[in-house]
Amino acid sequence: MRKSIIFPSTFCLLIVFTITACSVLNRSSTSSYNPVIAHRGAWKALQLPQNSIASLNQAIALKCYGSEFDVHLTKDNILVVNHDHDFFGINIEQATYQDLLAKKLSNGESIPTAEAYLKAGLKQKHTKLILELKPSKLGKERTEEAAERVINLVKQLKAENMVEYISFSYDALKKIKALEPKAKVAYLNGGIAPHKLKADGIDGLDYHFSEYQKNPTWINEAHQLGLSINAWTVNNPTDMKKLIVQKVAFITTDEPELLLKVLAEK
Ligand code: MG
Repeated sequence: MRKSIIFPSTFCLLIVFTITACSVLNRSSTSSYNPVIAHRGAWKALQLPQNSIASLNQAIALKCYGSEFDVHLTKDNILVVNHDHDFFGINIEQATYQDLLAKKLSNGESIPTAEAYLKAGLKQKHTKLILELKPSKLGKERTEEAAERVINLVKQLKAENMVEYISFSYDALKKIKALEPKAKVAYLNGGIAPHKLKADGIDGLDYHFSEYQKNPTWINEAHQLGLSINAWTVNNPTDMKKLIVQKVAFITTDEPELLLKVLAEK
């Protein structure tokens, strides 16, 4: 008889404890939600050059989740960081690294090598290095060559836990995954449904935010499949808030300060 009185009260206590613990955990996970990926570094507010080491350092100073940067391979097989296929008019794939040193970024930096860029990023641990591998204009083989060199560099620097990969090239992502199955890779181009990405071993969607408006079921579908979801390039607070409500894990922006402010107001 006594046992039957104690049992329900213990059970009730257990339920209260579980509910309290869960709500504490939920609060802490909400407060640590940091979807901010600085697009080409945090360059805009301080008028730094995009894809410079200075813009990477500013993204790190802001404590963004990640800082995105673009990688190409020169004619003499040096991986360099720049958005366009040309650097101040010099075609990167047709140039040697030495050729590219003829020009400087507006803050006096030379075009960063991927090695120098990663080494700068590896001085800290809180901001991930989001490496966009640009598809080669010389064809699939050269893109795959670049992918192989990127993976070798990341291994050499022991940076596996700090680097995530994105690309408009499905071939590049598949090559990266084949060389390094633990690598996190996300596809940029849009147009491929979550179940197809999952079947191909891609880890996430990193689509222009309009793709999610055109395909309103994709965010839920991706969540259910355990794929990561990123949206680019989101510079407007209204669009930022819509994506935050939809629990999009990552938001790539030219305005990391603004996104951090929107998150702080929530
Ligand atoms: Mg990019």
